[in-house]
Amino acid sequence: MTHILNPDNSLNDWLTEKQFPVYRARQIRRWLFQGRAKSFDDMSDLPKHLRDQLEQDFKIWTTSVVKHQKSVDGTEKLLLELSDGGRIECVLLREESRRTICISSQVGCAMGCVFCASGLDGVDRNLTSGEIVEQMLLLQRLLPNDERLSHIVVMGMGEPLANLDRLLPALDEASSKGGLGISARRITISTVGLPQAIDQLANLNSRYHLAVSLHAPNDELRNEIVPVNSRIGIEKIIEAADHYFDVSSRRLTFEYVLLADINDQPDHARQLARLLKSRNVLLNVIPYNPVAGLPYRTPSAKTISEFRAILLRSNINVQFRQKKGDDIDAACGQLRRKTGELHEIQPLN
Ligand code: SAH
Repeated sequence: MTHILNPDNSLNDWLTEKQFPVYRARQIRRWLFQGRAKSFDDMSDLPKHLRDQLEQDFKIWTTSVVKHQKSVDGTEKLLLELSDGGRIECVLLREESRRTICISSQVGCAMGCVFCASGLDGVDRNLTSGEIVEQMLLLQRLLPNDERLSHIVVMGMGEPLANLDRLLPALDEASSKGGLGISARRITISTVGLPQAIDQLANLNSRYHLAVSLHAPNDELRNEIVPVNSRIGIEKIIEAADHYFDVSSRRLTFEYVLLADINDQPDHARQLARLLKSRNVLLNVIPYNPVAGLPYRTPSAKTISEFRAILLRSNINVQFRQKKGDDIDAACGQLRRKTGELHEIQPLN
């Protein structure tokens, strides 16, 4: 059975083959993306025999919601089980008028960042474009009808640039008028920093915002906490990021997860400032969200504020991000690993 959310031409071909007018595809998409239909039967302006045949040949949902949690700060998180039993997570964040979703790109992750829960068991497979779109629609359906998703960050499980071929068609659906209609400027792809894939993205489609997870100001330290770095090196990543900026004119973001006693010392802040000084970038510093079973800790408030002061003195455009959804393990890959859960609420489907 074909996944209706897989953005290819199969729906158009199917309609032609079954002798339905192709404009029905537009109607169906409207029901899915704007009308929030949960089933083909909800698509009330389609003839009954078309709805029945769609039901026979297509699936809207290929995942099931295994867990749905809601944080006291309004963050909601879904743990989804895919048709082959793989599990992924996605999150809805509420911040003033923003409605941001964080979606996964792979089952697991191959990058091996030592502090991250997603990569502890390596990568199982890439998500299909349809599975990526499905996360967006499931999260949109958590909002009341008068609210719309405003931002997407591809910061869930997986390395998005290792699955670019499937990610880009899904993001096209997110940004197109007939899809979710979210401006590409409000869509962020977060990467561990794969220079070739960054170049590829620059060539294919540079409309999206790029965030690079740096986490260390020198190769020696980065090789330790982001092991894939030993094959790449910070210099090549910065070069590719600079090129992306030249092509896209979009200000880049660098992410830096603060790990107590590892990358949070004044000297790290000074090195980081030197590295980023002449660049038009935003540095996003994120206090570590501890993962059960891993030895890493969040730095003290005093250490964080000293780190911040050094960067501010060097005129780095820095933002210290608040942790969100702490009580529901909203950090990447955490929910999948947990058994006992907090604030569980009824699954959607
Ligand atoms: N692979 C991509 C996207 C997924 S991870 C990347 O590396 O960017 C998204 C971000 O969450 C990365 O910056 C990652 O380092 C960070 N992250 C992972 N686990 C975390 C944790 N426990 N606490 C805080 N940030 C975490």
